Amino acid sequence: MHDPIPTVTLPSGIMVPALGQGTWNMGENTARAEDEITSLQAGLDLGMMLIDTAEMYGDGGSEEIVGKAIEGRRDEVFLVSKVYPHNASRKGTIEACERSLKRMKTDRIDLYLLHWRGEHRLAETVAAFESLKAAGKIGAWGVSNFDVDDMEELLAVPDGVNVAANQVLYNLARRGIEYDVLPWCQERNIPIMAYSPIEQGRLLHHPDLIHIAKTYQATPAQVALAFLLERDDVIAIPKSSNPQRVEENRGAVSLDISDEDWATLDAAFPPPSRKKPLEML
Ligand code: NDP
Repeated sequence: MHDPIPTVTLPSGIMVPALGQGTWNMGENTARAEDEITSLQAGLDLGMMLIDTAEMYGDGGSEEIVGKAIEGRRDEVFLVSKVYPHNASRKGTIEACERSLKRMKTDRIDLYLLHWRGEHRLAETVAAFESLKAAGKIGAWGVSNFDVDDMEELLAVPDGVNVAANQVLYNLARRGIEYDVLPWCQERNIPIMAYSPIEQGRLLHHPDLIHIAKTYQATPAQVALAFLLERDDVIAIPKSSNPQRVEENRGAVSLDISDEDWATLDAAFPPPSRKKPLEML
């Protein structure tokens, strides 16, 4: 039996698990498709019901993998996808969304994000998002890789206040958002989706992380995820194409790290003491 996954409440009142699944690099190689689908399904069986994808990933291949993984269980899943900035015009956003829906063989995306800021005006993208919402093609919309000044600009455009999430790089080794983006969003009840939560695996070789993990008979990945699960309004979306690792990541929920060990991790991965421009991968 696994401990229940904590939830994060979106501005609409919908509750989503604070531990979901990423899909970057999926759908790029047909030889890996079966493992990718099996891993996503393993995650769903373990309650990691939020799946994050994007039209960018595998040139649509990732959305196709997601479509196969959720076949027959669409209603259990909270589906997140993203529009490319260069597609995010009023008309282009709607067309991109239609293509994503087709690839995922579904009639709606639960949360549709602008992947990063591009050349199109925010007001145009937001107007497109709102019309997709009115048509029932998306449940809510949000943004990704937005710093505080971007968020402030967003809130100033018509309907910009309807933003439902900001997906940004956040993990133990990338704590810059704790200075401003995270508290700014928390104060406004805008959830943060933490991408690359284990720094694409690079974090796992850190000696202090390995040491703390051993103390709890846990793995470095579990401690890195527990660090994010500890925070309010943060959703971590680790990616794995390996069902054993998905289960390992799910186990992060059961870790109860002491204040002393959090302090050791703070010393190893210091929180920011001043503003840093938002980092992106
Ligand atoms: P992650 O930090 O999730 O790391 C993924 C890598 O770590 C993969 O190589 C995976 O390999 C490996 N891994 C996963 N679990 C374990 C484990 N327990 N032990 C050892 N290795 C492990 O990086 P991502 O960049 O993929 O970020 C997660 C998701 O966030 C993405 O997939 C995507 O959905 C989203 N994202 C969004 C961005 C944005 O701009 N909005 C940018 C980057 C990511 P394997 O699959 O072989 O297990």
